[in-house]
Amino acid sequence: MIASAAFQSILLTWYDQFGRKDLPWQRPRTPYRVWVSEIMLQQTQVSTVVPYFQRFMAAFPTVQVLAEAELDQVLSHWAGLGYYARARNLHRTATILVAEYGGKIPADLDALLRLPGIGRSTAGAILSLAFEQPAPILDGNVKRLWIRLHGIEDSLDTQAAERRLWSLSEHYLSQQRVADYTQALMDFGASVCTRARPHCSGCAFQSHCLAWRTGRVGMLPALRPRRNKPIKSSYWLLLCDGNNRFYLEQRPPIGVWAGLWAPPQWDSREELEKQCQNLGIQLENLVWLPARRHAFSHYLLRYTPALIKVFKPPSALHDRPACWLKPEDFPQLAVPAPVRRLLAELT
Ligand code: SF4
Repeated sequence: MIASAAFQSILLTWYDQFGRKDLPWQRPRTPYRVWVSEIMLQQTQVSTVVPYFQRFMAAFPTVQVLAEAELDQVLSHWAGLGYYARARNLHRTATILVAEYGGKIPADLDALLRLPGIGRSTAGAILSLAFEQPAPILDGNVKRLWIRLHGIEDSLDTQAAERRLWSLSEHYLSQQRVADYTQALMDFGASVCTRARPHCSGCAFQSHCLAWRTGRVGMLPALRPRRNKPIKSSYWLLLCDGNNRFYLEQRPPIGVWAGLWAPPQWDSREELEKQCQNLGIQLENLVWLPARRHAFSHYLLRYTPALIKVFKPPSALHDRPACWLKPEDFPQLAVPAPVRRLLAELT
């Protein structure tokens, strides 16, 4: 096993030459900007996050502004990034920070872990990047690096494997250049020790890397047994009026796309058609469009849209806030990406 001082030295030398130093949340690198970026970066690549981060900062430049914003506003700036619970937690956390911490991000591990949406790795990233406090991280990129360097073949689903990887993060933790070290770890996994086709030929850890020395780079991390995701069906009623506006309603506060705006939906075609009859819509005027799919983390959504032109908007379908909107006005509302795409295509 490579000594931790040697590991840090090699990694920081690599970072000085190749690491990312001009990401928007690094200029300036305030605790607030680090926190928001770390939440956005969960399960999402840097290139996707950058424009969202910039728009978010323009709209919510401080914790106070974020705390005072309507949740709907926050969700509309998140629309398209997915995993919307992150945006709701960000908003909740901002109100807690204002109420309990004077609008400041606490530089304390236990306090960070009590805030919604902040787990141990995110807390470690905030402490090290924003406050220069040595704190380990263990995101997907770092896990992959430890697994390959140490030739770990265990299933990653066990608590024992998780503990082992955390102990490696602690073992290699640098006490110097703390923020650079954390950023270097993230960057190295994202750009050198990548999931597919890692750049082993130019890697400074090659002679220490057990996966490379034993010809197992392509096999590690071990693939999880593939489980087919369940498929859920949904039937969407696309009401379009004479001005090319679509009828959207706000989804309930709990469940998928909670609080976002989408067309009315039912679990079966029969339920949708029954509702149409209640509204006086002739079923023969419904145009059923081809079914589409959208992947959520735990299931596949198979949704079938039915389009109908109406000239007089019917009264609200469900007992929920609703509006008529043109696709070009969607940026004002939190509309999930598949809905945006579908309605934009139809116009
Ligand atoms: S040699 Fe290859 S697998 Fe090993 S750490 Fe370097 S890039 Fe990753």
